[in-house]
Amino acid sequence: MIYIHIPYCKQRCIYCGFYSTAASSVNESYIDAVCNELKIRADYLRNKKIQTIYIGGGTPSLLTIKQLNKIQNTIDKLFDLSGLKEVTLEGNPEQLTEKHLTELKNTNFINRLSIGVQSFDNDILKLLNRRHNCTDAIDATKNAQKAGFDNITLDLIYGIPGLTNKLWLENLNIIAGLNIQHLSCYALTVEDGTMLKTLIEKGKIAPTDEDQTLQHYESLIEWCHKNNFVQYEISNFCREGYEAKHNSRYWNNTPYLGIGAAAHSYNGTSRQWNISDIKNYIQSINSGIVPSTIENLSVEDSFNEYLMTALRTRKGLETNFLTNRYPDLWKATEPKLTAYINKGLMVPNAKGYHLNHKGMLLADAIAAELFT
Ligand code: SF4
Repeated sequence: MIYIHIPYCKQRCIYCGFYSTAASSVNESYIDAVCNELKIRADYLRNKKIQTIYIGGGTPSLLTIKQLNKIQNTIDKLFDLSGLKEVTLEGNPEQLTEKHLTELKNTNFINRLSIGVQSFDNDILKLLNRRHNCTDAIDATKNAQKAGFDNITLDLIYGIPGLTNKLWLENLNIIAGLNIQHLSCYALTVEDGTMLKTLIEKGKIAPTDEDQTLQHYESLIEWCHKNNFVQYEISNFCREGYEAKHNSRYWNNTPYLGIGAAAHSYNGTSRQWNISDIKNYIQSINSGIVPSTIENLSVEDSFNEYLMTALRTRKGLETNFLTNRYPDLWKATEPKLTAYINKGLMVPNAKGYHLNHKGMLLADAIAAELFT
């Protein structure tokens, strides 16, 4: 699987801790560097067939069709795409116009769209410093469907100060009328270095309220249940059969090649992340060097990472995989799971164990308790 990072945004949202730079278009020299990095690192995945590609950001909908074609052609020449199943592009509603969506569909490359809606409430969108409004978000979704996209996911955020339970439910009910296949819902987190954190510290925005966030999560679970969205990961919900193939592979320990400034890669034994600086990234790639830091993973690191991600999924911990890959660590860990089963947080299943809805809320804490 390949991930391409496009770290450009028209303006910064107040809560965002990702690396990106404010710009109204994607620099051509960045696209050239991305294509060059693809060439330099073409054997990173040891010539495995590529099944999924994800173009994320930042704001990949800022890419022109010409730039997208350049990336597509480069990937096409370098990798075996005979098993390609899913190519996702992230986009912001205000850029997903009818014309742009038709052009995207005509590339015959992108077959899944991830639309960064975040909220359907105009006041909340303003507070978050998003550029779109509720109508833009609805129009982008409907126009994507008109253009022929039949695999669409929307991103939403809950637990936002000012987002009442009633407003949150109204957001979800708008989705009920949109006939989409997938939904990613995240609790607002206040990250260091963000404008949100500064505004809360200055008393200009109310702090997030844990109880309210929990109520939003619980009403989300109930709403998804009533509206036939299956929760397959703590923040991800889909119509049956529409799990995100790319993201599911991250949670499965599958190696991936991450291209671009700030992109991360994983080859099964080490993690690698590129420099979070567009200018330096381009300069370094132009001189043939990938500017990255590599961390070799110990068996314990790799085991802990698996626990961390697998516990957040509906599939949960797979006993066969764990017995084969980490025999000693798993032997020492499995008996500890009884305590979570007895507390009504974890359930044994055909292949191992998974957390129920209540347990999923504590997934990170439970993983940390099980870490070796
Ligand atoms: S949330 Fe998305 S659009 Fe907003 S600044 Fe972050 S990457 Fe850019």
